[in-house]
Amino acid sequence: MKTRCSYCTLWLPTLLTSIATILSFLAMYFFLHFNINAMIKAHEHSAELTKNIEKMISSTLNATFLENDEVFLRAVNLSNRIYDEMVELKKSSSYDTSSLMESYKQLYKILISAVSYSKENRLEDAKNALEEVSIYTLHLGKQTEKLNNYFMEQEENAEKAFALLIVILALTLLSVALFNGLYLIPKRVIRPLEEFGEKLQKNEEKYRIVANWTYDWEYWVGKEKEIIFMTPSVERITGYTAQQFINSPSLLTTIIHPDDMSLWMQHVKEAHLPNRPEEDAQGVEFRVITKDGHVVNIDHICRPVYNENKEFLGVRVANRDVTVKMSILNELKEKNILLDTLATTDELSGLYNRRYFNEAFEREIERVKRMRTTLSIIMCDIDYFKYYNDTYGHQMGDGVIQKVSAVLKSSFSRKMDIVARYGGEEFVILLPSTPPEEIKRLVEKARIGVVALGIEHKDSKTAPFVTMSFGIINCLPDASLHPDKLLKIADDSLYESKRKGRNCATFVEC
Ligand code: GH3
Ligand code: MG
Ligand code: MG
Repeated sequence: MKTRCSYCTLWLPTLLTSIATILSFLAMYFFLHFNINAMIKAHEHSAELTKNIEKMISSTLNATFLENDEVFLRAVNLSNRIYDEMVELKKSSSYDTSSLMESYKQLYKILISAVSYSKENRLEDAKNALEEVSIYTLHLGKQTEKLNNYFMEQEENAEKAFALLIVILALTLLSVALFNGLYLIPKRVIRPLEEFGEKLQKNEEKYRIVANWTYDWEYWVGKEKEIIFMTPSVERITGYTAQQFINSPSLLTTIIHPDDMSLWMQHVKEAHLPNRPEEDAQGVEFRVITKDGHVVNIDHICRPVYNENKEFLGVRVANRDVTVKMSILNELKEKNILLDTLATTDELSGLYNRRYFNEAFEREIERVKRMRTTLSIIMCDIDYFKYYNDTYGHQMGDGVIQKVSAVLKSSFSRKMDIVARYGGEEFVILLPSTPPEEIKRLVEKARIGVVALGIEHKDSKTAPFVTMSFGIINCLPDASLHPDKLLKIADDSLYESKRKGRNCATFVEC
């Protein structure tokens, strides 16, 4: 707006000055033109006058010899024409013709008297009068010559004035041009343009720094899927230059990891479409394969671009290289899993520990209550294990615990079965939704599995090998059955097996 105003202040005075100059030039031109025309006319009349006077002179001189009426008549006619010219001259110029008129009147008077002398046949008087006429005519002739010179001088002056006028006009226009060229244009146009250019340059530098120093890989995809702009940081992340992407936008799809291609295509289908609200940013994570074959994890986020007129201009994208973050996250995940395992697993047996069992037990009770299904709890314990330790040593005892644990794990191997080391050489097993016959079968399988290990136990009072006793309860838990109470019943049932002679199972329905 400011620049447009500068133009107004530039062209308006120029225009006004030029119009004023041209108008004054035209006024002077017409004034001079009419004056010159009038002068030319006056000059013509004075020339005609001179011609007639010359004719008159010759006519009157001839009349001296011809002495007839015709001569006088011609002289009178000529004198009338002289008079007419004088009147015209007076009309067409400001020239003072009074002395001319005066001379003419004298001449005319003498001519008329010459005519009357001739008629009265007073030839001598007529001749004298005619001679006088010739003298006046000569006198008139001299006066008209002066008149001619005057008009010629006037004409020359008018022409000079006209030339001067043209010079003034040219000088005025030249001054306007110089004023514009040396003052107004530099002040109103060149300087503002220079300032505008400086501003543009500064802005350009600002945006170039913003763009070139963007650490993430950012770009703008146009309406026609062309890449309008891309930050140079793309080269650091992918190995390809921004120009390569601009020249061939499909390069982006080419470097997407094949396993993430459908994810990417789905995102493009949903997010890279016009008419999405401008604040609707959509993200996706995918991998790209760099120019030298590395895999880089990209956190992609994009949103639509609109101009002031709400016209869709494409999609603005920010891609962040999250490879390091992802590897740290994966490491953390693995460590978390490990921690979780350590927190829930018994180190010696590899089975769930008591802590995990307690949590799982409460959870399972709630679940089976909801599902209105049964829950079975099996408590089992190695028989005469104290003796085993005493005979074979604690380390050998640990080995027995490990082997027995493996048997239990393989015997109760459904995904929902929970096998835990309850403490020492004692174990607990949770079996949800299992029919009694199946429970008995599985327990028997475990008991025989321990026997089948064939671990010598010469000090056992049950058998010369390691055996195990089992206490089983199968119940439909309700609000009245507290977890501790259930465990107590299971433990009692195990005690019953011990009492019965060990290496056996006791089943209780409750
Ligand atoms: P019962 O048939 O009545 O169960 O007799 P028991 O000897 O097995 O029972 P008791 O509770 O008297 O002894 C358990 C023994 O288990 C005591 C301890 O030495 C042993 N024990 C407990 N935890 C471990 C362990 O982690 N490693 C080893 N090697 N022995 C353990
Ligand atoms: Mg024992
Ligand atoms: Mg015990």
